[in-house]
Amino acid sequence: MTVTINFDALRTGVGTATLDYRQLISAGDARRLACDRKLIPVVLASDSEPLDVGRAMRTVPLAIRRALIARDGGCSFPGCGRPPGLCAAHHVRHWIDLGETKVGNCCLLCPAHHQQVHLQGWDITIAGGRVEFRPPRIINPDRRPLTNPLRH
Ligand SMILES: [Zn+2]
Ligand SMILES: [Zn+2]
Repeated sequence: MTVTINFDALRTGVGTATLDYRQLISAGDARRLACDRKLIPVVLASDSEPLDVGRAMRTVPLAIRRALIARDGGCSFPGCGRPPGLCAAHHVRHWIDLGETKVGNCCLLCPAHHQQVHLQGWDITIAGGRVEFRPPRIINPDRRPLTNPLRH
């Protein structure tokens, strides 16, 4: 499957993208699908010429995925017990925003929590081998960071 999207739409998450057979999806969904690089987007410049950025992307290397499994043990979202096999490698700083594919910039998230993090705008920080989740203000006005007690 390919997703075709304009560079600004992929960067901002605002707008639409097209799948094979021209189905429309939201730019936010395209951003999430492209996050762990299982899906390589065809990124278009404003003149609809494909940009190299999409082609240069590869999936998360196995060594990084193994390191994430060793650190996170499965979905890293607070309270989630889903195993690594169900999880994608979420880029804390998206590669489209020049975030690197490295252990310090990725965490494992199950499909439900991957969607939730992208849709609700949870902030994630990784320090000292712990993944901390800062909820959006609408969920917790103090934005007190949470970790997954099942993993630490
Ligand atoms: Zn993600
Ligand atoms: Zn989860």
